[in-house]
Amino acid sequence: MELSEAAVAELNGQNPFVVAQQQCDDCANILNIDLGVREIIREPMQEIHVSIPVRMDDGSIRVFKGFRVIHNTALGPAKGGIRFHPDETVDTVKALAAWMTWKCSLLELPLGGGKGGVICNPKEMSPGELERLSRGYVDRVWQFIGPDKDIPAPDVYTNPQIMAWMMDQYSKIAGKNQFGVITGKPLRLGGSAGRHDATARGGLYVLREAARTRNLNLKGATMAVQGFGNAGSYVASLARELFGCRIVAVSDSRGAVYNRMGLNPQLLSEHKRMTGSVADYPKADPLPQGELLELDVDVLCPCSLENVITSGNAQRIKASIVAEFANGPTTPEADEIFYAKDVHLLPDFLCNAGGVTVSYFEMVQNFNMFYWDEKEVYERLDNKMTAAYYSVLDISRKYGVNMRRAAYIVAVRRVAEAMQLRGWV
Ligand code: GLU
Repeated sequence: MELSEAAVAELNGQNPFVVAQQQCDDCANILNIDLGVREIIREPMQEIHVSIPVRMDDGSIRVFKGFRVIHNTALGPAKGGIRFHPDETVDTVKALAAWMTWKCSLLELPLGGGKGGVICNPKEMSPGELERLSRGYVDRVWQFIGPDKDIPAPDVYTNPQIMAWMMDQYSKIAGKNQFGVITGKPLRLGGSAGRHDATARGGLYVLREAARTRNLNLKGATMAVQGFGNAGSYVASLARELFGCRIVAVSDSRGAVYNRMGLNPQLLSEHKRMTGSVADYPKADPLPQGELLELDVDVLCPCSLENVITSGNAQRIKASIVAEFANGPTTPEADEIFYAKDVHLLPDFLCNAGGVTVSYFEMVQNFNMFYWDEKEVYERLDNKMTAAYYSVLDISRKYGVNMRRAAYIVAVRRVAEAMQLRGWV
C-alpha cells in the first residue's frame, strides 16, 4: 500500500530517533551552531547489535536481539540504562542514548550518553532465564563497556538484581571485582543509598521549584501518575510523603484507577505486588487508561514510555504542570500546544535526571570505596536538580522558548564546547 506523504510524516513522528534528531536540529538552528557539531550530534558515535542465545527452562535455545548505543562521549564515558522490552527497537535505543548525552550535560555530570536494550518480555521469563539473558548480554558487549568507557544502569523492566548479575559477569571476565562497570546495583554490592527512588525524588525536587515558579501550593495539589512502575510508584508515594500531594489516579500497562479523595500509594504497590497490576484496586474506580492524561489535575506525571502525549490529546490536557518522569513521552507537536496553553512542562532530561545523577554518585563511591549515607545523597541530589531547573528556566525566559528547547540550549552548548576543546570540530 502506498502511504501519503502526511501518513509517512506521522509515522516518522512516532519514531523517537526522528524526534531526537528534530530536537537537535531545532536547537542547532536557535543557537546557530557550528555545522560540524550539528552533524555529529545528529548521529550516535557507536551502535552495537548482538544476538544472545539463552537456554530456556524447557531446554530449548532462544536467541534474543540486543543493542548498546553510544551517542556521544565528549564530556566523559557513556552512561545510560539497559531496557528489557518486547517492543524495543534500535531507533528507540538511539534516541534514548542521545537524551542521555543531554541529561548528563544538563546536570553537569562528567559523562556522555549511551543506552542499551534487549527485545524480550521479562514478564514471561523465569528468574533463571532472566539471569542467563543478563549474563549473556554482558558476554556479547563486555569489550565495549567498562568503568571508564560506558557504564550501564537499570531502565524499563530492569532492576538491581539484573545489575548484580551483569556486574558479576563482567567481573568474572575481567578477572577482578568491577563494581564501577554498572550502577543501580543492590546496596550490598556497591549500590548507592538513595538510588532506588532517585529518579522520582530528583524530579520531585524539580517539581517543588516549578510549583514555586507557578505559585502552586503542592500540599493538597492533585496529581495523576501514568505508569506505576520503576519511577511512577515512587513518584506517587514520595509526592504524598514529601509535599502532601493528593494522588487521584494511577495507571500501568494493564489498567488505570481513580479516586478523587486520593489513593494510598503504599496500598496500591502492595496490590500491584499481589496481582501484577494496579487495575481492580478495591478503593478506587476503574478508568480508561487514555482518560488519565486528560483528568482535571494540577500535576500530570507521565512515567512510562514514549509518545503518550501527542497532537491528538495535548489540547485536552488540563494539568498546569506536566512533569516528564518517562523518557520522550511528549511529541514536538504536543510541546508547541503546551507552550501555547502555558503549561509548565518539565522536560524529561531535566525531570528524570535524578536516576543518572545518583548513578554518578554511585560511581564516585565505588571508585573511592567509601560510601555516603542517604542524607548526603539527598542533599547533593537536591543541589544538582535545583541548579539544573533554574539554568533551564533562566534560558527559557531569556530566549522566549519552551522549557524543552531551553534544556537543549543549556545541554548542547556544553557538549559543543567540549567537542571544540577536544578538537573534534
Ligand atoms: N535509565 C535511567 C535514565 O534513563 C538511569 C540511567 C543511569 O543511571 O545511568 O536516566
